[in-house]
Amino acid sequence: MSLRIVDEGLPAGQSAPAERPRGRLPAYSLRVSVLEQCQLDCRYCRPGSTTTPTEKARWLAPNEHGRLARILVGRGVRKVRFTGGEPTLRPELPALVKAWGDVATDMSVTVGLALTTNGLRLAPMLPALRDAGLQGVTLHLDSLRADRIASMMGDGADVDRALAAVVAARDLGLDVKWNAVVQRGKNDDELGAMLQRAQDLGVELRFIEQMNTGSAQRYVQDTFISGRAIVAAIAADTAVQAVPRRQPSDPASLYRTGAGVVFGVIASDTEPFCEACDRLRLSADGRVRGCLYQPGGLPLGAALRAGADDDGLLALLDCALADKQSHHPLVPRARTPFSMADVGG
Ligand code: SAM
Repeated sequence: MSLRIVDEGLPAGQSAPAERPRGRLPAYSLRVSVLEQCQLDCRYCRPGSTTTPTEKARWLAPNEHGRLARILVGRGVRKVRFTGGEPTLRPELPALVKAWGDVATDMSVTVGLALTTNGLRLAPMLPALRDAGLQGVTLHLDSLRADRIASMMGDGADVDRALAAVVAARDLGLDVKWNAVVQRGKNDDELGAMLQRAQDLGVELRFIEQMNTGSAQRYVQDTFISGRAIVAAIAADTAVQAVPRRQPSDPASLYRTGAGVVFGVIASDTEPFCEACDRLRLSADGRVRGCLYQPGGLPLGAALRAGADDDGLLALLDCALADKQSHHPLVPRARTPFSMADVGG
């Protein structure tokens, strides 16, 4: 069965994203996927995943992360976010974080280290992660309702446990954010309640527009609600004012409610930010790519395992940096479907 998606032109009112001029940037933000497996099953994420997860033997070990960290930090990586799959499923996650933190310290460079997680296994790991140098946690939870969370995120999803992880991370002094993917008819009646809970918890909430990566096309089409519609729904109940993004490369547009609560909206498909994008992605086995939608990636990890020296690794990385370009769905091209868990969301 052919699983290619062919773009059929742009929806009315949308224009192709302006591409960032190619060439090296002074700084990069890196997503490090540490494995593709996840214990949950979000309806918009994995159902049509077409790739087999990287086998354990190919996962980069902490010392291999250290080698690649030296190369990548040397080329300007200043923020690292560990993700997956579910990164806390790897027991050596603190050692991976430490590998990056140690390199930053050795090189006298400030590198922000953060984690994206569903929080279910986070709490017991938190002290080790903090000691390893982790500074931020983004917790993903799509509903506050115990009676609907499993139907949205899969068996094992647990609102209380996820919120307890938020509190534990916050109380350890970490910078905590909360991501909720908004789905029409599923959780779009909870936006106000989520904002209230985020305010009570003292964390910033970001509403995420679903991306049609191709792994759950029908579900995403049926439940899609755009970033603009999310803001309009909130504005029906309270005054909403746009406030400037913290940094141009920050994917979240920010808003403030009448009650003074600041929240973000990430609308990657309807309001792409390719021009300002400074992201790179490293897969569990060390493939580096410059765009979430880019198939493949350059095999930095395989080169390392084949015995490449630092100059060889740098040359390969420089090819990826020189070729950083947008493969966003609005750029007309045949696309291969993928799940965010395969690429590291
Ligand atoms: N397991 C971790 C988690 O749940 O956050 C990290 C990996 S998960 C792939 C990272 C983020 O990607 C989650 O917030 C998830 O909701 C989001 N995500 C996955 N598929 C998506 C899609 N099609 N559109 C928008 N966000 C998506």
